[in-house]
Amino acid sequence: MNAIEFESVNFSYSSEENETSAPVLKDFSISIERGSFVALLGRNGSGKSTFAKLVNGLLTASSGKITVLGEELGDKNLFEIRKKVGMVFQNPDNQQVASIVEDDVAFGPENIGVPREEIAKRIDYALKATDMEGFKEAQVARLSGGQKQRVAVAGALALTPEILILDESTSMLDPKGRKEIIEVVKALNKEKGVTVIDVTHYMDEAAEADEIYILHGGKILKSGTPEEIFKDEETLLKAGLSLPRAAIIAKNLRAAGLPLPDGILSKEELGESLCKLLAKI
Ligand code: ADP
Repeated sequence: MNAIEFESVNFSYSSEENETSAPVLKDFSISIERGSFVALLGRNGSGKSTFAKLVNGLLTASSGKITVLGEELGDKNLFEIRKKVGMVFQNPDNQQVASIVEDDVAFGPENIGVPREEIAKRIDYALKATDMEGFKEAQVARLSGGQKQRVAVAGALALTPEILILDESTSMLDPKGRKEIIEVVKALNKEKGVTVIDVTHYMDEAAEADEIYILHGGKILKSGTPEEIFKDEETLLKAGLSLPRAAIIAKNLRAAGLPLPDGILSKEELGESLCKLLAKI
């Protein structure tokens, strides 16, 4: 079963005068397989956040069909669907609803009427999954940016979602905080089968996904594995995207005459290839 399916979806925001503005998504179709880890790329304003908000019904399509976990989105099932789609936004400070970590994580399940004993279990599960077990009674305000965002992820996990959407959730974090969040989310994907949609502008992060979708002009410009996407520099240029840092370094080293293999996307791959070359000297 697909986690998310859009069939010929159109969407425009309405202006204050109630006139519709230019369409953000045009005849937009996508199928995201359950259990996959997908990165969504595209320049600012290409519609990535709009797509994320359509998935959990924060916005409604102007036309077309949206199916989430086998159910077509409509007024009647929005509440049920929202329980299955967790979202983590950009700014951890805007997502905090309580001053103590465990209360903050409990907020979502309390809101949907999860019984008290079950909430306690979910807090433990969510804090363990995000490696924040030791911070149950801590003040959220005293945590680092990365830790706050991990609490926000824990809050989404306490709803035991089947789909987790990160909407630029790592963009306010330093490289260490970013790595922490992606590692937590990757583990959830691999170990618990949670479908992850990572809306990001970090190419290094996208290189870790199973599949990348590039949004451009209200449509999918290209989709494929990170290897397929990052070898198509023409498409990247068109969409205003770059290569992951390790791929840029590998490209420069190749241009300088080092016989490095194609397809290097991560610093681990780059390190391994350089070690092999050194071993031959
Ligand atoms: P992205 O996440 O890729 O940066 P968005 O989905 O946020 O893109 O925005 C897509 C387009 O919709 C942009 O042109 C943006 O200006 C416009 N837009 C986003 N939110 C609103 C809104 N609430 N009202 C009107 N236009 C909006």
